[in-house]
Amino acid sequence: MKRYNFNSGPSILPQEVLEQAAAAVHDFNGLGLSLLEIGHRTSWFVEVIEEARALIKEMMGIGDDYEVLYVQGGATTSFMQVPMNLLDTDATAAYVNNGIWGRKAIQEAKYFGNVEVVGSTEDRNNSYIEKKLNVPSGMSYLHFTTNNTVEGTEWFSVPDSNGAPIVADMSSDIFSRPMDFGKYDLIYAGAQKNVGAAGVVIVVVKKDILGKIKRSIPPIMDYREHIKADSLLNTPPVFAIYVSLLTLRWIKKEGGLAEMEKRAIARSSRFYDFLDSTPLYRPLVDKEDRSRMNATFAIDDKAVEDEFLQVCKETGMVGVKGHRSVGGLRVSMYNALPMEDLEALISVMTDFANKKG
Ligand SMILES: *Cc1c(COP(=O)(O)O)cnc(C)c1O
Repeated sequence: MKRYNFNSGPSILPQEVLEQAAAAVHDFNGLGLSLLEIGHRTSWFVEVIEEARALIKEMMGIGDDYEVLYVQGGATTSFMQVPMNLLDTDATAAYVNNGIWGRKAIQEAKYFGNVEVVGSTEDRNNSYIEKKLNVPSGMSYLHFTTNNTVEGTEWFSVPDSNGAPIVADMSSDIFSRPMDFGKYDLIYAGAQKNVGAAGVVIVVVKKDILGKIKRSIPPIMDYREHIKADSLLNTPPVFAIYVSLLTLRWIKKEGGLAEMEKRAIARSSRFYDFLDSTPLYRPLVDKEDRSRMNATFAIDDKAVEDEFLQVCKETGMVGVKGHRSVGGLRVSMYNALPMEDLEALISVMTDFANKKG
C-alpha cells in the first residue's frame, strides 16, 4: 500500500536522502566500512560534520561571529540548556507562551532564574500569534517558538525584544524559508522535522552572548566547551548528523531556502484554500498566523471526525490525527512533502466531504 506521510515529527524526508543514508549504513563512501563503524574523530567523519556545519552557516548567511553546533537530547534538552548558559539565578528572561513547546521551555527556565511571560495566547487556545510583546528592559534574553508545531501557528516576523538577545526554538520550521537569521543570538532546532533524523539538535549561537553569567556549567552542557571541541566534545550521534548533511545537501541542490519557501507557500495556500472552501473542515488558526508546516483543523461532529480518521487509515494517509493536547486534525507539510501527496489527501478529503454533505 502506498502511504502518504503527514507526520508531525519524526516526519517525511526526501526519498533520495533515505536511499543515501541506507547505503552509508552498509558501505560509507566506498570505504568498505559502515558509517556506524568508524570513529567520530577520523577524517572521514570530521569531513561530514564540518561540511554540515559549513552548509548551515552558508544557508543562514551568517558570519564568523556565530558558531554552529550539534548537541544531543532533543529540543527538550535545549529548553534547559539555554537558560543554564544564559540566565543567572537573580536575572529574568522574557518568554512567549504561544503553545505547548513554549510552555515547556518556560517551565525549564524557571529552574535557573526568573521568567517574565511577555505574550500569551492561552485566552484563545493558542489559535493565533501575539505579535505585540511588551518586553521590559534588562531581560537576559527573549525566547520564542518560531513555529508552533502542535497548534499550527507560525511567526513571519522577528519580534521586538527591546534590546535583549533573541533566542528561538526553530525545531519545526528551520530551513523552510529564508529568515533574518542574523537577528537571532541563539537558534536551536531538533533535526527530526525538517533536517533529518531524531537524535541531534542544531544550535547556532552568537559567540559574544556566552560567558556572561556567574553559574558554573557542567562541560557537556556548556556551549563554550562544544565550540572549543568543534562540536566533538564526546561521541556525537554520527548517523543523525550524516542524515542531516544529506538533507542539507538536498535543500541546496533543490534551490535552497528560497525554493523551499516557494514550495511551502504553494502547498499551504492550496491546503488552506481547500479547508476554507469546504464547510465540513474548520481551520483552527487565524488566517494571518497559519503555519506553512502544520495545518490544524477540526470536524465538529466527533463521530464524523473518527470516521474521517478511519478513511485516512484505509487510504494510506498517515499522521493526520491532531496532537493529544489539542485534539482535532493536523496535516504536516514539511520540505520533503511532494505536492502530489497533498493533492492525494485533498482528493480523499473532497470525497469524504461530498459523502457527508
Ligand atoms: C518537536 C518539537 C520539540 C521537541 O523536540 P524533542 O526532540 O522531542 O525534544 C520542541 N519544540 C518544537 C517547536 C517542536 O516542534
